[in-house]
Amino acid sequence: MVHRPIYLDSHATTPVDPRVLEAMLPFFTEQFGNPSSLTHAYGWEAEAAVTRSRQTIAAALNASPEEIVFTSGATEANNLAIKGIAEACFSRGRHIITVQTEHSAVLDPCRYLESLGFEVTYLPVQPDGLVNLDTLDKAFRDDTVLVSVMAANNEIGVLQPLAEIGARCRDRQVFFHSDAAQAIGKIPLDVEAMQLDLVSLTAHKLYGPKGTGALYVRRRPRVPLAAQLHGGGHERGLRSGTLYPPQIVGFARAVELGLEGLETERDRLLTLRQQLWQGLAPLGGLHLNGHPTQRLPNNLNVSFEGVDGQALLLGLRGTVALSSGAACSTASTAPSHVLKALGRDDALAYASLRFGLGRFTTAAEIDQVVAGVTATVQALRRAAS
Ligand SMILES: *Cc1c(COP(=O)(O)O)cnc(C)c1O
Repeated sequence: MVHRPIYLDSHATTPVDPRVLEAMLPFFTEQFGNPSSLTHAYGWEAEAAVTRSRQTIAAALNASPEEIVFTSGATEANNLAIKGIAEACFSRGRHIITVQTEHSAVLDPCRYLESLGFEVTYLPVQPDGLVNLDTLDKAFRDDTVLVSVMAANNEIGVLQPLAEIGARCRDRQVFFHSDAAQAIGKIPLDVEAMQLDLVSLTAHKLYGPKGTGALYVRRRPRVPLAAQLHGGGHERGLRSGTLYPPQIVGFARAVELGLEGLETERDRLLTLRQQLWQGLAPLGGLHLNGHPTQRLPNNLNVSFEGVDGQALLLGLRGTVALSSGAACSTASTAPSHVLKALGRDDALAYASLRFGLGRFTTAAEIDQVVAGVTATVQALRRAAS
């Protein structure tokens, strides 16, 4: 087998947990029915599996099953939430509030809506990556219809104060959406306590299959939403298209496993992350990106002084698989918009590494990564001086 680097890019995607795969397998070949076929047993058993999965995912959010709309992932869920609200609330108002550090799957639908005449406020963040609540308070307008703030950032892992934001939205009768792609199954989420109206989810950041996710849509008080995919009227008319039972069953199993191990896994990851941070500390010239504690337990994002970002990634290629920012923006040459929003200069934004630890990461791997990063950074600094 070819040598493969240690995988520390869990914010980009994760492997399917073998227990998730096991749950999915029967639904490819044996229980292959269409959940919409209500005239025979093949359809019924697929429908029953989807129903159970819907219950599991809803319970994870403290929601009810009818509030879950299955989608192809968080990108689609974000598009449905943001464009769906904009279209449904068109006559009420055309102003949306979001944050500069959001994922492109939130920013791009917002930019698209701007091209149609909507107005969008992109809130800045504090140097620690968190939204300032006073700044949010000042951004509300009479015509604001939606606030979209992610639960956990995919680059720096910071956890936004959802309950505080939710309370502010509810006071003003503005709908509140959160992209929780990185958060589901990793930190507790509760649509009641956080007063969330719309929540985007995906399975593949949580040891589930790629190409599957969901949008939570609140029923009471009802959230008006315009469908973005029209067809057979599946998912209460909000998202047409034949449901995909293997993926949905795998998604639910992944959520179940995530919640089962939530606290022990958090503690294990915090220990590994501390090992990584302490291991790198002797290098000096390190800058932690994002709030030190209000962040995902598996995320560490560090800028290295005095090294070239591209050379750093190139030097580490054989040792560790990671990136300096979002997977979807690594192809672009611009520095991370998230690190820029924290106030990092271009050089430090380029010379940053996003460590995404995972369920299968071991202490021995962290030792190897520390050794590899230390050697590479030292070599690059020597060459530059
Ligand atoms: C991965 C990710 C997405 C995109 O999810 P897909 O299911 O891959 O479409 C959206 N938002 C955040 C924060 C993500 O991390």
